[in-house]
Amino acid sequence: MKIITDKRCTQYAHPGHPERPARVARTVERLRNQKTLPITWAEPSPVDETAILRAHTPSLLRRLREEHVDFDMYTPTYPDIAEHAQRSIGGALKAMHSAVQGERAFSLLRPPGHHATRNRAMGFCYLNNVASAVLAARAEGVGRVAVFDFDVHHGNGTEDILVGQSGCAFFSIHQWPAYPGTGREHRDNCFNYPVAPCTPPDKYREVADEAIGQLRAFRPDLVGVSAGFDCYVGDPLCQQRLEIEDFHWIGSKLRETGLRVFSVLEGGYSDDLPRLVISYLLGLEGLELTKELKHDDKSESPPDDSSSVSDAHMEPFWGPSF
Ligand SMILES: [Zn+2]
Repeated sequence: MKIITDKRCTQYAHPGHPERPARVARTVERLRNQKTLPITWAEPSPVDETAILRAHTPSLLRRLREEHVDFDMYTPTYPDIAEHAQRSIGGALKAMHSAVQGERAFSLLRPPGHHATRNRAMGFCYLNNVASAVLAARAEGVGRVAVFDFDVHHGNGTEDILVGQSGCAFFSIHQWPAYPGTGREHRDNCFNYPVAPCTPPDKYREVADEAIGQLRAFRPDLVGVSAGFDCYVGDPLCQQRLEIEDFHWIGSKLRETGLRVFSVLEGGYSDDLPRLVISYLLGLEGLELTKELKHDDKSESPPDDSSSVSDAHMEPFWGPSF
């Protein structure tokens, strides 16, 4: 498995924000301290404006670079956020190119991207990583490209960018109602599989199975996965019930398709994120979920108190109910 990361993505933070540097820093640490999953490490590709402007309007890019004002309560501005967001696209591009060459790859960077629409940053996302990579693949001659999004929130930004795009299709399983309130029904080439709050994992698997079946029916040449781990039972932002072995199952199901797959990190805000990521990647590689990983209720390194999320700080991030 190729892991694409860059330490600079941990060098910005907002006090109390759940999308915090420890998500990536602790996942990298845990990946480095394990031997079950063979890893090659890589850095994000350089990104030119063309790649960004296939997915986004010039006005969004200009605002990101020049106007340092918060986009909304979930999506604060940071110094150099444009560089961080572009680097995240670079990770998705590197992962995509690896998959085209037959190698499995995971972009482990922040910020995430699937809520960023063509002209709007929102929901912790500034630019859309997976959509930018999909449109780059299409521009470079890949015939049919699908996105599979298992983040607990609907990938409204990816849908906004890919809807009606020839050769593209979007398949999303997510909680509804939940932030951002979209994704209740199919829309053109975008196929939405909402699940109710507190859906049991076996029911969730049935719905995911159906979504992956439809994805296969699209006969994609390449699949980009928006890998969000906030459908975990221990995640503070939504009310799903998936356990660590369910993420291994998702990886295994994607492997079973025999398709070329690349993945990018979206959400996932619990302290167990590193274990969940590794579980998913082991499934993708056809490797067993180890007992050590499965039964480790506590992460190898203690939570970073300076960046942990307190209940008081979390409240604004639970999001409105729709
Ligand atoms: Zn999410």
